[in-house]
Amino acid sequence: MAAQFTPPTPAQQLAAIGLTTGLQAPLQRALEPRDDFQSLPEPGPSDWLRNHAEAGQTFDQFTRSLPNRPDAHRSKLYLQPLGRFNEGDAPSLDQLRLFTSVFFMMQVVVLPPWDLDVDHIRSRQNPWTGQRQLLTGDILNALQARLPKNAFALLGITMTDLYPEPSWNFVFGQASLRDRVGVYSFARYDPSFYGQAPTTNSRKLMLRRSCKVLAHETCHMFGIEHCVWYRCLMNGSNHLAESDARPLHLCPVDLRKLQWSIGFDVVERYRRLLDFQRQAGFEDESQWLNKRLRFIAPHDESTDTH
Ligand SMILES: [Zn+2]
Ligand SMILES: [Zn+2]
Repeated sequence: MAAQFTPPTPAQQLAAIGLTTGLQAPLQRALEPRDDFQSLPEPGPSDWLRNHAEAGQTFDQFTRSLPNRPDAHRSKLYLQPLGRFNEGDAPSLDQLRLFTSVFFMMQVVVLPPWDLDVDHIRSRQNPWTGQRQLLTGDILNALQARLPKNAFALLGITMTDLYPEPSWNFVFGQASLRDRVGVYSFARYDPSFYGQAPTTNSRKLMLRRSCKVLAHETCHMFGIEHCVWYRCLMNGSNHLAESDARPLHLCPVDLRKLQWSIGFDVVERYRRLLDFQRQAGFEDESQWLNKRLRFIAPHDESTDTH
């Protein structure tokens, strides 16, 4: 059923961020949108907001929802590789760990990979693609049984395609927010899944898409819902082109939610993200972070002032 989406006005965008008086100056500036955040375009027929009626979640609504927050006892994020991550056709687990730790400013632990045959995860051959797929429910149950005591969340990641039930073709991922576990497949982020020949950019694209889905889905674990306020990492997405169009950063509304939940230093986080984006070669994101840092921390000598 088609949904009607009316883009929010600038006043509604500011109301979603909420009052920032009393916050420390760098955080206050980090929440000032200026012209660094774009409004969402009119959704096309197959886009998320044309197909899902979403009202959006303001910062105040978020805090009132009493979301899960990390604390001294549940302080770490765990990544659980399911099956192999072969160099050459999978994103580097080191890079994914580094990105996740910088994005959330939390300790991230990569667990030893599971052998899928030993762990009794049900699978099938997809009738359309002929590729092997894993049943998400079995994975979520197994993850839940292994949730470490000090985990804020445990995220299964795999290069194998997933399905949630026999009648479905596939699913990108599935999570149980209450149980703090989720599983996400990067299989369909690999251009070769669609029969495209690998290029020098394939690996960079694969890493970027994988970082994006990890950050987006992990933000859901913090109780952050889909964003309708700006172009944002937390925008819903119905297809790959739409998710490729999303930025790898949060809008001020969602940055405020994550900062409230974790309590990180926004300047330190942006500096570390900038280092990561530079070495990963994500130039548009590096430029954007540089511009924001020059505004938020104008006397910081580590940013590029050219
Ligand atoms: Zn989502
Ligand atoms: Zn947002």
